[in-house]
Amino acid sequence: MRKCLKCGKYEVKKPHYDWCYKCFHELEEKDKSTPVEENFEDNLKSNRIHTVYIMSYSGTKEKIGYTGNLPSRLIEIKQVYPDNKLVYFREFTSESQARRFEAWLRERGKRTRTNFVSTFQDKVRKVVDYF
Ligand SMILES: [Zn+2]
Repeated sequence: MRKCLKCGKYEVKKPHYDWCYKCFHELEEKDKSTPVEENFEDNLKSNRIHTVYIMSYSGTKEKIGYTGNLPSRLIEIKQVYPDNKLVYFREFTSESQARRFEAWLRERGKRTRTNFVSTFQDKVRKVVDYF
């Protein structure tokens, strides 16, 4: 059993979650009671953008994660694992939304994630081509 990444006290019930139920519930309640505009302001002020990403390595392996700062997280990962490539990311207004999506993504099969990744990369290619 894994310990909660937030409090380190409680065990994580669902294997796809990083936080225990108590920590996640508190975060979600806080996010729910915060107006979206306030979340935008907080994100701007703290320079945090709640992001879920997929890195690909060794050809077919993947790592799914959450970060509040994608550029610096990418540098950290690349320093330790230079062959990791960012293949997908999605930004959220609140941390609980992002963590929920991260867990959901981990629960999906590899084929669903592969679809996500290729749809995303098609989109990026189209945007890049347009500019
Ligand atoms: Zn916890």
